[in-house]
Amino acid sequence: MGTLTTIAIGAALVWAAAYALGCWLWPFRACPRCGGTGKRVSPSGKAFGLCRRCKGTARRLRFGRRAWEYSRRARAGG
Ligand SMILES: [Zn+2]
Repeated sequence: MGTLTTIAIGAALVWAAAYALGCWLWPFRACPRCGGTGKRVSPSGKAFGLCRRCKGTARRLRFGRRAWEYSRRARAGG
């Protein structure tokens, strides 16, 4: 294994650790469907309903956090 490969693997591990920490600290991102407003505005702009994608919460779980919760549920056995 060359030095370059070792560095690449090390960098990947550091990135993964930083990403995991980021998903733990900031588990949500703004909903892309409604742009973080939680609203679905009517064409007239006068009426609005709740965004269906995020159910009006305006936030979506990040992929890393979702994977983490999924694995935690799988380990708990249900
Ligand atoms: Zn939304």
